[in-house]
This record gives sequence, C-alpha cells and structure tokens, in this order.
Amino acid sequence: MTVFADGHDIAPDLRADLAHRNIPVVDGRITGIARHGGHSATVKLDTGPDVAVDILFAHPPTKPSASLHDSLGLATVDTPLGIVLKVDERRETSIPGIYAAGDLATPGMPSVTTASWQGAMAGIFAQQSMLA
Ligand SMILES: Cc1cc2nc3c(=O)[nH]c(=O)nc-3n(C[C@H](O)[C@H](O)[C@H](O)COP(=O)(O)OP(=O)(O)OC[C@H]3O[C@@H](n4cnc5c(N)ncnc54)[C@H](O)[C@@H]3O)c2cc1C
Repeated sequence: MTVFADGHDIAPDLRADLAHRNIPVVDGRITGIARHGGHSATVKLDTGPDVAVDILFAHPPTKPSASLHDSLGLATVDTPLGIVLKVDERRETSIPGIYAAGDLATPGMPSVTTASWQGAMAGIFAQQSMLA
C-alpha cells in the first residue's frame, strides 16, 4: 500500500504510524492518473517520478450537484471532505423554516440510513415549527 498526500499535510504521528506499518508516503501533488486497462494505473506527480499502482482508492471532495441552496442563500460549511449545508441540531438551515438532510448536509457520512433518519427528523422539526 502507498499513501499519496497530494499536497496535504500529514501529521507527524500519522507518518510515524504509517512508517511503523511499512506504508510509504508519497508527497507532492498528483498532476494526472494514466489508466492502463482494467486495473493498473500510473500516478503522475509534480515532484518525483511516476508511481505505478494496481488499485487506487480516492476520496474527492464533494459539493452540492444542484444550485437551489445558492439561490436561496443558505449558508454552507467548507469541510475537508467537501461543501455541505450548515444545519443546527434540529436540521434547520441558516434560513428559518428551511430544513436539510442527507448527503447535502452531512460531511463524511453518506449513507441511506443517515439520509433516512435525518430526513425523518427534518420533517418532524419542520412540522413542529409550523405548530409553534
Ligand atoms: C456508488 C455509490 C454506492 C453507494 N452505496 C451505498 C450503500 O451500499 N449503502 C448506503 O447506505 N449508502 C450508499 N451510498 C450512499 C447513498 O446512496 C447516499 O448517502 C444516499 O443516497 C443519500 O441520500 P440523499 O437523499 O441525501 O441524496 P440522493 O440519494 O442523491 O437524492 C437526491 C435526489 O435529488 C435529486 N435532485 C438533484 N437535483 C435536483 C433538482 N434540481 N431538482 C429536483 N431533484 C433534484 C436527485 O436526482 C436525487 O434523486 C452509495 C453512494 C454511491 C454514489
């Protein structure tokens, strides 16, 4: 296994842990990935030589695919995993009366289960707000 830092800082204790496990860390930014057939690929870096890999796991940052939140002026939060809507513990966004759930409002925990329970909670709190 090889970890590509892609220009990000990796904390010294994490580096030490990876070294302890004989997992090399490749610093520098990834400038390209050349695929060769079904599995193997070459990772190109701005510093140092290309690195050949059999399988590549990546976690690109996410962002909302629609722009409704923008036109409504909802506040967002920039997380290391991408942009999500800002919600409070009642799943209410920065604009009173608008609630959000699911991937759009959940950094780093995308799942059907999460989206379902958050959707249920958002619905309950939206209904409560209409009764208040
Ligand atoms: C490849 C893959 C595999 C996954 N596997 C799993 C798994 O095994 N188990 C698991 O729990 N989770 C899995 N997930 C994650 C899970 O699919 C998501 O976390 C979940 O679907 C999020 O639900 P959501 O309602 O927030 O968003 P979505 O399911 O993305 O629903 C958003 C909906 O809004 C619609 N939409 C977008 N823009 C507009 C617009 N302008 N107007 C109207 N409608 C619009 C979209 O078409 C979509 O139907 C997987 C995700 C992917 C990509």
